[in-house]
Amino acid sequence: MAETSNLHIAVIGGGPGGYAAAFLAADLGMKVTLIDPEINPGGVCLYRGCIPSKALLHVAKLIDESRHAKNWGVDYADPKIDLDRLRSWKEGVVKKLTGGLGLLSKQRKVEYVRGRARFENSNTVWISQIDGKEEALSVDRVIIATGSRPAIIPSLKLETSRMMDSTGALNLREIPRNLLVIGGGYIGLELGTVYAALGCKVSVVEMLPGLLPGADRDLVLPLHKRLEKSFEAILLNTTVKSVKGEASGIRVTFDGPEVKECEKVFEKVLVSVGRKPNSEIPGLEKTLVQVNPRGFIQVNKQLQTDDPSIYAIGDVVGEPMLAHKASHEGRTAVEAIAGHKVAFEPNAIPAVVFSDPEIAWCGLTETQAQKENREVKVARFPWAASGRALTLDRTEGMTKLLIDQQTERVLGMGIVGVGAGELIAEGVVAIEMGALAKDLELSIHPHPTLSETVMQSAELFFGTSTDIYRPKK
Ligand SMILES: Cc1cc2nc3c(=O)[nH]c(=O)nc-3n(C[C@H](O)[C@H](O)[C@H](O)COP(=O)(O)OP(=O)(O)OC[C@H]3O[C@@H](n4cnc5c(N)ncnc54)[C@H](O)[C@@H]3O)c2cc1C
Repeated sequence: MAETSNLHIAVIGGGPGGYAAAFLAADLGMKVTLIDPEINPGGVCLYRGCIPSKALLHVAKLIDESRHAKNWGVDYADPKIDLDRLRSWKEGVVKKLTGGLGLLSKQRKVEYVRGRARFENSNTVWISQIDGKEEALSVDRVIIATGSRPAIIPSLKLETSRMMDSTGALNLREIPRNLLVIGGGYIGLELGTVYAALGCKVSVVEMLPGLLPGADRDLVLPLHKRLEKSFEAILLNTTVKSVKGEASGIRVTFDGPEVKECEKVFEKVLVSVGRKPNSEIPGLEKTLVQVNPRGFIQVNKQLQTDDPSIYAIGDVVGEPMLAHKASHEGRTAVEAIAGHKVAFEPNAIPAVVFSDPEIAWCGLTETQAQKENREVKVARFPWAASGRALTLDRTEGMTKLLIDQQTERVLGMGIVGVGAGELIAEGVVAIEMGALAKDLELSIHPHPTLSETVMQSAELFFGTSTDIYRPKK
């Protein structure tokens, strides 16, 4: 193994990719400088992404359940929302976590510099510090972990606080009477769910024929049905032609075959049309780093760029733009720098949509299998036959396994239903360990839990399910 204790590395960006890389590098004995403008590490995920959105979604779920409780003989009064307290609770969660990361940096003796980095060459990084100071760092290796930002459609840009991106929506300044979410991806749906629970009339517009374009349609269907009840409108196959600021709101014009109302005024509009990698780092052209036409930095399986001294990880290197992918890449890059024989080649990166119901999948999807003409068998277990789902009054869910017909190996898993985000981890472990459907069938799952539906899907595959009757062919 190469001697790593003399290496000095600079990590640019303190998100889940950057701080994981910095902390592991320090643990492996390297001298580490971590650069980010925020007061503490955390990046998009902690300050304006995963964590604040999930804190608010938890509150949304509580509100929704309290309304639903009527059906079970428990009648709560309508909730009174104290927006200031809700906002400060969410901010408190962020502060606790990012403060914790600041402490962990100090404990590991990672030098944390608040500022923005630029390249002078492959081994020299300049930092424009938040206090105006300029500092040059001479380092052995650089890890770029600059993440991504909300994509903007120039024709939908208006200089008004009525127009928000995900960061603005998470700030939760007020609850508008109505809100248009442009983009039916996971971020738009999650934030739309929060605003709807807080009493706002939410409409979502998506130019494609379905919500969550990346997910299998059978997983999306139960969510779509529920959102039809909690949202004011779901406009599919529809594009936003123009937006115009007016005294009372934003006048939006729609275009598409299914459009019934061509124009509508919304108090607020949330633009959530994807994310763009932050690869325009000043001076990057003075290195050998290559950026592909979509703006992602090119890396190999060790996360090394075309410049041998520079590695890149996280959102800035490509899809899926997810925090857990970023942190695993960060760890791989550091181990590669340390000379360990490693490669980033996962068989399953889980994707979770924290909507209600949640949607989660990992490994091969049905859509992908069809595209690639792969012979797979799909075993679907409907939650209507799950005791636990019934006790929760949430039987709309479904668990499915994608199984290789020849080898009976588990290739993919998809779940829609409450808690799908927690349940999908079993699929990841099964796929990464090369589990067979038999392994899932024979593993005793606790009763009554939703996790049983994984085992029950495998039973369906073998025709041994005792929870569902399927006449023999
Ligand atoms: C609303 C929302 C919800 C999300 N929910 C989830 C979720 O539930 N689960 C999930 O897995 N993912 C979620 N994501 C995505 C997740 O936040 C990202 O995938 C993740 O943060 C990427 O991590 P990263 O380390 O690549 O970079 P980031 O977290 O984007 O951090 C990059 C950091 O680099 C800094 N930076 C940029 N340029 C420079 C420079 N030149 N010098 C110094 N610093 C620089 C930035 O300021 C930033 O702090 C969500 C995103 C959003 C917006």
